[in-house]
Amino acid sequence: SDHRLIYPSRPEDMDWSSLFPGFVADGQPDHEGAEAHDEASRSDEPETEPRRPRRLTKEVEVADIGCGFGGLLVALAPVMPDTLILGLEIRVQVTQFVQDKIRALRSQSRDDGARAYQNIACLRANAMKFLPNFFRKAQLAKMFICFPDPHFKTRKHKQRIVSATLNSEYAYVLRPGGVVYTITDVLDLHEWIVQHFEAHPSFARVPEPEQEADPCVALMRTETEEGKKVERVKGDKYVALFRRLEDPPW
Ligand code: SAM
Repeated sequence: SDHRLIYPSRPEDMDWSSLFPGFVADGQPDHEGAEAHDEASRSDEPETEPRRPRRLTKEVEVADIGCGFGGLLVALAPVMPDTLILGLEIRVQVTQFVQDKIRALRSQSRDDGARAYQNIACLRANAMKFLPNFFRKAQLAKMFICFPDPHFKTRKHKQRIVSATLNSEYAYVLRPGGVVYTITDVLDLHEWIVQHFEAHPSFARVPEPEQEADPCVALMRTETEEGKKVERVKGDKYVALFRRLEDPPW
């Protein structure tokens, strides 16, 4: 539950170096394997010398909300090799699985004399609660919400990952021109998603021709674990993309 989730009190306090050791700025130690986000909010350290988070050469610009087993992260890594992509996942063991998978892919790539998969990482977090703790305003260029839990019953709708309140948080962390990518096999949820984003003043739906021309859309359909499951049963997949609009002048 949330009381065991660890998160920085503000984005500047987040130490990303253990998640993206290949992007630690020169001259700073590289601590692969250490749980930086653990350290970032540890309160039992002496107050006298506040720790300064190690800096990266880049910021995270793409987030996969509820990344599950990380199929999309792995597929996106070579498509955007210079972009840092973060999966957020609430389940401990699933997060661990994805972290182990990324470590293995990096090590395999190193054995091959390359440096692939340094740009993806997975963090345990409740994306419904702490996004602005991790990302500053307008930091993200893309957010993926792939096959979110449907929470079918009306009394459970408040647990859906798309809502008026959460969309305002997504608008806050996304830069103008940035895109939220959504896909689901549940028509009712797709309609809910479209209705909530279209009702939000910061978002406009991306027209279908543009949607279909976006290479990320194909990956979302075929590379997510849920997308593969739906494929096996020949189910429908409903896609909708929403662009973050410029804020109106005051
Ligand atoms: N996106 C993946 C895919 O398409 O294969 C996984 C989809 S799975 C149905 C939904 C995932 O969202 C689960 O792994 C679940 O643990 C995660 N999740 C649910 N609520 C979450 C939250 N508040 N924050 C982060 N992850 C969450």
